[in-house]
Amino acid sequence: MLTSIVGINWGDEGKGRMVDLLSQEYDIIIRYQGGNNAGHTVINDQGKFILNLLPSGILRETTVNIMGNGMVIDLAHLTGEIRKLREAGVVITPENLKISDKAAICLPYHVQQDVLEEERLGDAKFGSTKRGIGPVYGDKYMKKVLRMGDLLEPDTLPEKVEALVNWKNLMIEKGYGSEPVKPEEILTWLREQSSDLSRFICDVTSYLTDEIHKGKNLMFEAQLGALRDIDFGIFPYTSSSSTIAAYGPIGAGIPFAKLDNVIGIMKAYSSCVGEGPFTAEMFGEEASALREAGGEYGAATGRPRRVGPFDVVASRYGCMVQGADEIALTKLDVLSYMEKIPVCIAYEVDGIRTTEFLTGDRLNRAKPVIEYLEGFRQDISGCRKMEDLPAQAMDYIRYIEKTVGCKIRYVSVGPAREDYILMED
Ligand code: GDP
Repeated sequence: MLTSIVGINWGDEGKGRMVDLLSQEYDIIIRYQGGNNAGHTVINDQGKFILNLLPSGILRETTVNIMGNGMVIDLAHLTGEIRKLREAGVVITPENLKISDKAAICLPYHVQQDVLEEERLGDAKFGSTKRGIGPVYGDKYMKKVLRMGDLLEPDTLPEKVEALVNWKNLMIEKGYGSEPVKPEEILTWLREQSSDLSRFICDVTSYLTDEIHKGKNLMFEAQLGALRDIDFGIFPYTSSSSTIAAYGPIGAGIPFAKLDNVIGIMKAYSSCVGEGPFTAEMFGEEASALREAGGEYGAATGRPRRVGPFDVVASRYGCMVQGADEIALTKLDVLSYMEKIPVCIAYEVDGIRTTEFLTGDRLNRAKPVIEYLEGFRQDISGCRKMEDLPAQAMDYIRYIEKTVGCKIRYVSVGPAREDYILMED
């Protein structure tokens, strides 16, 4: 069984906790894109964990975790993440963590370039997380990166680093007028950071191919959501990687594999980090109330997230591009305080109403068309069965299911592993 768990919206839908819950039935969990520019929060009996790079299955003893070739890996961040988990008692060995030798390494100068570019842009900035993700993906496609496998051939590194740094300084030093990058510093960084990591690096393609033939269950864990996909999202305010389920097998290292199931994670309202069009955005007190109720602050950066009502137009599009077979609707409990629940049911662009998700400048001009549903006005965090939910909450779920056109299989009503309802047909 090959399943992909992906975000339907702008990210931060609560994928981490759903992977943590659903990973019970899977032998191998694979991260296939992105870097440490987003975070998954998982709360279980061992504590609260924020995972930026490691797959969420790392918190389960019997699960093997893969970091695929589609990822970009900041070695210092990864070593820090492993150290923190080990301090909390999580066991991490080459048996339960395998890193693709083909994943690109995010170097300190990628972070530097990210910061320099956001500064240069000033008010026109993209709202980058400044973790070097855009620059390292750019360099990957220029074929000017180190890959994890290079760490296994340390003698070749001085020559490779020298060539890369000479090229990069054309931009950092001659372009931005910043201090030149020194090859020795990059080499020292690589040596220090790779000492513990080298033993995790391997050819994950052959490992996964064998495991698939043995009939193992694989789960692909996405970071961010459909609307942040480099091709299908709100370009250019997207991430630099493919967040779409169909990319999963490629970014994992098994491009021949076919997905059996795509589970879309969709939040009961909207949130969005950084710049870019966010049509249904709330402002002022209305926004503060929802942000506080949902704890909407970035897991990786602590930035307050922009928030808004559930957006039917964007979510239906998200389900479509992800090819979602079923949905986990998260954080429904957060809406308990609302008298009436706003929902964005259409956009209006240049005076014309549309239910199509738009891209480019038309999306920038779109205005939300809002409708209100009855609030449920009671704490639903203790509900564990459909029958426990108030009628208004069921109406809200069914309304969303109907409008986005995808079956809602799970509804989460709290952050802990067991805080969810399995929806019967
Ligand atoms: P991810 O990147 O998609 O995993 O999402 P984040 O980790 O950024 O955001 C999810 C946040 O919501 C975390 O703090 C979770 O603990 C929390 N969370 C997840 N599901 C629920 C839920 O059903 N109810 C509430 N109240 N919080 C939840």
